[in-house]
Amino acid sequence: MSNWDNFKELVLVDKKDVCDTIKSFYFKAKNGEKLPKHIPGQFLPFKIKTDDAKMKEIIRTYSLSDLPNEDTYRISVKKIEGGIMSSYLHNNLEIGDSIEAMPPCGIFVLDENLPKDMPIVLLSGGIGITPLLSMLLANAKDRNIIFVQAVQNSNIHPFVSDIDNICKENNLKNFVFYSNPLDNDKLGKDYDVKGFVTKEWIKENLPLNAAFYFCGPPMFMESLEKNLIELGVSQDKINYEKFS
Ligand SMILES: Cc1cc2nc3c(=O)[nH]c(=O)nc-3n(C[C@H](O)[C@H](O)[C@H](O)COP(=O)(O)OP(=O)(O)OC[C@H]3O[C@@H](n4cnc5c(N)ncnc54)[C@H](O)[C@@H]3O)c2cc1C
Repeated sequence: MSNWDNFKELVLVDKKDVCDTIKSFYFKAKNGEKLPKHIPGQFLPFKIKTDDAKMKEIIRTYSLSDLPNEDTYRISVKKIEGGIMSSYLHNNLEIGDSIEAMPPCGIFVLDENLPKDMPIVLLSGGIGITPLLSMLLANAKDRNIIFVQAVQNSNIHPFVSDIDNICKENNLKNFVFYSNPLDNDKLGKDYDVKGFVTKEWIKENLPLNAAFYFCGPPMFMESLEKNLIELGVSQDKINYEKFS
């Protein structure tokens, strides 16, 4: 889209359930123009007007969760109880409706100067999967990626088959953690490890000479950063995005 340096309208062209509480939203340019390609890891800021006279309008950002392309943007949003924008997207925005958005931005992207043979570890907690999924989809063919996904259980386990398929096709390692598995969740089938991503597990299972990228709840990220530093990973190989 030409001259897109402020908010412009995008049109919702599709809306799909991903899993419990998470939906994906697909947007195109209103006038059918090409969209600027995002760099995997980047997000779009969205703006809506609210009924609250004090706030008038609110802005929230959502990471692009698909491959970079010039046709359609996909975001994947977790519905937050009492959350204004996530509830609006889930409950009110319908196919054909417009919403104002800024072009892709953000600096949580893979360092393009990483040596080609350096492994890359992508670790996600919950809805923090979105920027990392885009990185995986775009780089699975060319990079040695190890993908780690931590969720509560199979009810809120987004993009299971997408991740399985791309990792199998490209011979990449993929680990799934369930912190609170359901009675019928099967260890070795639905998930690989019960509990959280611990320092001991990292030491035994991940290459410490890798570049690390992660996104998830605050506790997940604080614990990962602390553990990686204690295991000797240098700070310049530790990258993360906060969703708050
Ligand atoms: C870089 C970045 C990328 C992101 N990417 C994604 C993504 O890909 N997918 C995704 O789902 N999210 C993502 N987020 C988070 C997203 O931007 C929103 O923060 C999230 O959707 C919540 O927004 P909301 O308007 O629904 O909730 P808000 O209205 O902001 O509310 C958030 C919480 O505060 C509580 N709250 C609100 N008002 C009050 C009040 N007056 N008193 C007490 N509690 C209150 C709500 O109940 C809720 O629990 C990202 C954030 C960042 C910074």
